[in-house]
Amino acid sequence: MIRIYNTLSKKKEDFIPLEEGKVRMYVCGPTVYNFIHIGNARPMIVFDTVRRYLEHKGYEVNFVSNFTDVDDKIIKKANEEGVSAEEISQRYIAECKKDMEGMNIKPATTHPLATQEIDGMIDMISELIDKGDAYAVNGTVYFRTRQFKDYGKLSHKNLDDLQAGNRSLLVSGEDEKEDPLDFVLWKPKKEGEPYWKSPWGDGRPGWHIECSVMSKKYLGEQIDIHGGGEDLIFPHHENEIAQSESCSGKEFARYWMHNAFLNIDNRKMSKSLGNFFTVREISEKYDLQVLRFFMLNAHYRSPLNFSAELMESSKNALERIQTAVNNLKFLAEHASVQEMTPEEAAKAEEAGKYEKAFDDSMDDDFNTADAIAAIFDLVKFANTTADEKSSKAYADTLREKIQGLCDIMGLITEKKEELLDADIEKLIEERQAARKAKNFARADEIRAELLEKGIILEDTREGVKWKRA
Ligand code: AMP
Ligand code: ZN
Repeated sequence: MIRIYNTLSKKKEDFIPLEEGKVRMYVCGPTVYNFIHIGNARPMIVFDTVRRYLEHKGYEVNFVSNFTDVDDKIIKKANEEGVSAEEISQRYIAECKKDMEGMNIKPATTHPLATQEIDGMIDMISELIDKGDAYAVNGTVYFRTRQFKDYGKLSHKNLDDLQAGNRSLLVSGEDEKEDPLDFVLWKPKKEGEPYWKSPWGDGRPGWHIECSVMSKKYLGEQIDIHGGGEDLIFPHHENEIAQSESCSGKEFARYWMHNAFLNIDNRKMSKSLGNFFTVREISEKYDLQVLRFFMLNAHYRSPLNFSAELMESSKNALERIQTAVNNLKFLAEHASVQEMTPEEAAKAEEAGKYEKAFDDSMDDDFNTADAIAAIFDLVKFANTTADEKSSKAYADTLREKIQGLCDIMGLITEKKEELLDADIEKLIEERQAARKAKNFARADEIRAELLEKGIILEDTREGVKWKRA
């Protein structure tokens, strides 16, 4: 039985999906106005791993994660560059997808874009107005927060404390609201901003409504798991609950999961503080598998401090697994015996205890840190029980077990030898330069190096052409 820490109850609860064998899961995605930073990568890696584990347990997972492609920050960036907001969001969605691929994050079942779902948002806002849960003033639509009796149930905040904290808003010009706690569902257009037509005038949606609408459209009124970083608990998720539950009259999400923050020098990593690394920057120094390992080596609900030392030790740890896998491959290829001996069969069965330890850890609120420890126990077991005398079947079985567990974590155990196009072009340029300088030894060396990696060069009159073997 999988147990999940639910932010709603502040307890670990047994996971029972709404529909047997199926999981409906929604994770708030990034606002796309720049390269994602490694803080943004944390929820991506965490919830991809949750998804992979649920799939390993046999669930069919419908995983929806949005891109917020309409937002003040996107508009600001577009104005700075003198291009459209769409150009900015499309560019960074493409870059984000590249980073996700590098981190071995599976594409979601659906990646909806806010700008493609405006009609659904207008419908939901209209429904809330009809029900008396929202009202329009001068082209802005607000949600009547106090009307929703359960407001504060996720963040465990009480309305009167919130009211006290919000009093300053009343004097800052927001007095068209009936109540300072009310939040925006639709805002009127401003000069130079993208806008859509609506019954309340031209404008654009507020941020919170987009997730309520997209999760309803792609997953239905009720979902099993809703995830995101812990900064989203209030107000974003609290507001999503208010909107969705006011509309449907049903519980929106059963389990609310939140990852803790990635810090740097023990301070929150954020774009506004300027103390962040992008995933792209990290990828110049490390295989992004190392970043994934680094994230999963901590529990998702514990704050994690980023440091060069921890990245180095993650790199070494990952290499230990890769070395063991390569070693087992070598042993299998060179084994003189094919079938397992009875002793080996017993050992192979014994190794199952590490798989069980792995599952037990993951069942316990996705304790990836303990699950990785179980992988290392299995690696150690393989290193001490498999050698040149082992059968092919034994070496293969152990390797498959290690790789099977790594796969659930989304960790790739085989080193990618594949060269990127840019690397190939760079080597070809270097070879041309070497030839020009009559350094034919180096030129031949480069050709041989490329050939070894499956790249065939062809010298033609038009220049050097290359293809993958
Ligand atoms: P944003 O683009 O700011 O809406 O963030 C996208 C996702 O990244 C949200 O789930 C945030 O909670 C999460 N996030 C942002 N910064 C961090 C951080 N430093 N550590 C962990 N999660 C973060
Ligand atoms: Zn959201």
